[in-house]
Amino acid sequence: MLTPKLSPKELKKALRNMDNPPEVLLDTPDDTQYESQRQTFNRRFHKRPAAIVLCKNAEQVSHVVTVAAANPDYPLRVKSGGGHDHEAECSITDGIVIDFSEMKEFHIDKEAMTLTVTPGLQFRDVIPHLDAANVSIPHGTCESVGIFGFTLGGGWGPWTRLHGMCCEHLVGATIVLGDGSIRKLKASEEKDRELLWALRGGGGFSFGILTQMVIKVFEQPPHTLRFILSWQRPHDGLLGMTQHPLPPAIKILEAWEKVIAPDQNKQLIGTNLQIMAIPEDEKSIQESVHECVFYGYYAGSNEELTADVNRWFEGLPWTGLKIVTSDEVSQHSFSSWDRISTSNEKLRWAGKQLQHFPPDVDHPAPHKLTSRLVQEEGLGQEGRENLIKSLRSKLISKEGIKAHLHTYVTLGAISGHFYNEVYDYPDYPNGSSFPYKKRPYTIQYQVWWDETDDDKEKGAEFHVYNYVNDALDWITECRTNDFPQTNGSFISFKDSGVPTRQYFLDSYDRLRDIKERYCKDENNLFRSRKTIP
Ligand SMILES: Cc1cc2nc3c(=O)[nH]c(=O)nc-3n(C[C@H](O)[C@H](O)[C@H](O)COP(=O)(O)OP(=O)(O)OC[C@H]3O[C@@H](n4cnc5c(N)ncnc54)[C@H](O)[C@@H]3O)c2cc1C
Repeated sequence: MLTPKLSPKELKKALRNMDNPPEVLLDTPDDTQYESQRQTFNRRFHKRPAAIVLCKNAEQVSHVVTVAAANPDYPLRVKSGGGHDHEAECSITDGIVIDFSEMKEFHIDKEAMTLTVTPGLQFRDVIPHLDAANVSIPHGTCESVGIFGFTLGGGWGPWTRLHGMCCEHLVGATIVLGDGSIRKLKASEEKDRELLWALRGGGGFSFGILTQMVIKVFEQPPHTLRFILSWQRPHDGLLGMTQHPLPPAIKILEAWEKVIAPDQNKQLIGTNLQIMAIPEDEKSIQESVHECVFYGYYAGSNEELTADVNRWFEGLPWTGLKIVTSDEVSQHSFSSWDRISTSNEKLRWAGKQLQHFPPDVDHPAPHKLTSRLVQEEGLGQEGRENLIKSLRSKLISKEGIKAHLHTYVTLGAISGHFYNEVYDYPDYPNGSSFPYKKRPYTIQYQVWWDETDDDKEKGAEFHVYNYVNDALDWITECRTNDFPQTNGSFISFKDSGVPTRQYFLDSYDRLRDIKERYCKDENNLFRSRKTIP
């Protein structure tokens, strides 16, 4: 029987009404942890849950699920240690949020070659330990992303060309279903395979609440390099452009596409290419100049990489090649390649030497993004023109860029050794719901902003909110423009404006069916705007 809407205090009492109860934070000044705990990484959102439940085990989660089922006035959400959902679907005002930030345990089993993790873990908690054991998982680019949300959405990163998306390596999980039951899933068990297939790329929160994941690890290559190859102007922004000619972006894009072709350059473990968006100018698309940065991970020596870079980009002179050895970054192997935060920006633009890219630290900031996937056959010349065209817009201004509004696209390589040669082999008999295995790369349009105290002092011209609305309209333009060489969208780069089916394409109907048959979600608890219905 349903209860009338409980007061927050009554709700807390119900949530704690069990042996070994979880801590519950309410929106009152007495709960001093509430303010920091309610934050999501995307500061465009400011949600205030009625109760934040700091769960530490599956039994506590199961209890919260049964309380939520009896109190539908308080919708349920789940936040891992990361809280990086781009639409902040990990939280909700006036609902119950299960918060896993205190559930951080992991175990590396070198014999079984597995990593067992709980949902509070962010990459920074685990990667140094994986490095020390000389193994890894296909993790992401940013140290603060949560392993659970990342893997459930697919999990693209620096290892993708060589080892695919992280979800492909998910071999076990513990999950709390809609009726509160706790189920252990193993890839070796026939009865668990369909649900595991759904969890490998079907998105966060749709199928239940996971309290453990088992992920296969791989041996690290003997020698790895991180490198940053840039076509950038010195520090004076757009004004410096004419004095520092750069190659047209379309040429750089074309060369990068050849580098990532599935059967090419096996030593290139992974890469993405960042291309900045610019105000529309008088140049043609063929001549359009945009700053570009090629971020890469490479299994080989400095000499081999330098020779490859010279070959890959012959005739397209770059302005910087920074090679970072794994020794230099042993604690933080990967940086947040595809993100420029305000503090990073200062480092990049502080002098004429664009050499140092900051370490893996990332800071929460307001942002919005949308994504598309390149069709299997590639963009071709017309598609490349469409992409560059989308990066030239009247909605982008020099003034906005000066005020620290960052508008750009990152192209994340999928195609490579794993999906070309490994995937159909017997090690991966059960597959994943990630629908973009044969696609060359993701296209991720991004706008980020932040307003520092420095900016405020500089005056109204630097007030970034003067430019944010136009930049958000640019994202809408990028979502809706005619770009037939692309389709679909990547759920981990969540944009609430994209229809849900578009994220999962051919997997969508099967995901719906699996949810209905396995998840016992009669009360429709596992719902947010972009979950599987
Ligand atoms: C700065 C930044 C860098 C990023 N870099 C990359 C990248 O390199 N590659 C990439 O693929 N993606 C990247 N992303 C996207 C990221 O993978 C997704 O936003 C992902 O969903 C974040 O997971 P999370 O656990 O941190 O976030 P959360 O917001 O906590 O969770 C994300 C979703 O998963 C659900 N969820 C969380 N925990 C559980 C659980 N235990 N059980 C069931 N559902 C759960 C949440 O309810 C929510 O819907 C990045 C995002 C940001 C903000």
